[in-house]
Amino acid sequence: MIRWIKIFDKNIQDILDAVNSHQSYWRDALPMIASENITSPLARCMLITDLSHRYAEGKVGHRFYQGCRYIDEIESKTIELSKELFKAEYVNVQPISGVNANISAFFALSKPGDKILSLKVSDGGHISHAKYSAAGLRGLKVYNHPFDNERMNIDEEKMVDTILKVRPRIILFGASLFLFPHPVKEAVEAAREVGADIIYDAAHVLGLIAGGKFQDPLREGADIMTASTHKTFPGPQGGIIFCKKKYANEIDLAVFPGTVSNHHLHHLAALAITTAEMINFGKEYAEQVVNNAKYIAKDLYNRGFDVLCKKHGFTESHQVVIDISSIFSGKDAATKLEDAGIVVNANLLPKDVNSNVDDVSGIRIGVQELTRLGMREKEMKMVAEFIERVLLLGEKPSILKEEVTEMKKKYQNVFYCFDFGKDNAYSFDLFKLKI
Ligand SMILES: *Cc1c(COP(=O)(O)O)cnc(C)c1O
Repeated sequence: MIRWIKIFDKNIQDILDAVNSHQSYWRDALPMIASENITSPLARCMLITDLSHRYAEGKVGHRFYQGCRYIDEIESKTIELSKELFKAEYVNVQPISGVNANISAFFALSKPGDKILSLKVSDGGHISHAKYSAAGLRGLKVYNHPFDNERMNIDEEKMVDTILKVRPRIILFGASLFLFPHPVKEAVEAAREVGADIIYDAAHVLGLIAGGKFQDPLREGADIMTASTHKTFPGPQGGIIFCKKKYANEIDLAVFPGTVSNHHLHHLAALAITTAEMINFGKEYAEQVVNNAKYIAKDLYNRGFDVLCKKHGFTESHQVVIDISSIFSGKDAATKLEDAGIVVNANLLPKDVNSNVDDVSGIRIGVQELTRLGMREKEMKMVAEFIERVLLLGEKPSILKEEVTEMKKKYQNVFYCFDFGKDNAYSFDLFKLKI
């Protein structure tokens, strides 16, 4: 919480009040947005250091500005740690977001008019895989993976046929609605035959991959792996690209000077800290995330929710997806949950292919942040009960919110990182840090 000094400017006061309210909102809530997470207190400290003011265009040892001596040390350490954690041949740590990483990879591998095979947004694909975002900006012709709604995954056999027929330049895996590992191995032979490169967008699942869970795209045949650094990977907001050595030069040029001038140096230091923490605690964290997701999926199903993919064990990731359309729209369900202090998002499901974004059938929940806050199976059961009481038993969300806030009081520290004294995440006092 930010402790206020006396402030006389109304605008500043308004902004600080909103920031303060935001802090309290999340302190009291159960954060279950599948694309979010919480950094360790130490990583968070990096974000307010002097690094946030500086420029370091170029690469380690070859900068366009003076003053980069220590930035070089930090960046080379980040690269070294990332390579170690992901057993990657090459890494670029400069993209400032996952979309930035994707567009850089598209520029590195393709030219306008080339074809890309990716997942449709309603099947879980990200907007940057589609014609109205990064893929379209690069001028790529977008073809979609054949999808099996029942298994919530790409249909492997039809995918191979599609690759041979379409002959794409890029085969893109990865998704935002992402329950099960994608068939990367199964695409390798056909990719080779038509001369396609494979990109795996690990934005959502990077933290699981770091912990040896879900799948290992770089070993399964992906040429390039892009990601955000702040979803299941609990780092600062940012992006990252891993690749085989032979793509290193194209990737580097597509990032700088292609799509980034100055990368965010405070985020870089926080990424280095998070990566070191994941080397120590990643396995334990990823395991608990997946266990929690499987547990809450089953529990919600037993309470009467239409949780997708029962036959396939509900999920192998941090996500659980509920088709709520027999009772509410996804948006109404998410709003009711928010009123009770449980923050999830409404999500398109494959059957919503022709619906607009306000009329979706699903809610997507992620357990990674609750896991970071020390929650395990016992707590998943309590959370599932809250969700049942709001959505199935019709209890008043505003009354339930008090119980949610009370429960959350015990979960205010971040786990799976080094202990940073008693002053953990939410009691963080910016003005105490003499940086
Ligand atoms: C979130 C997401 C991204 C983009 O992430 P940003 O870091 O927000 O730019 C890219 N791909 C997928 C699959 C995602 O879910």
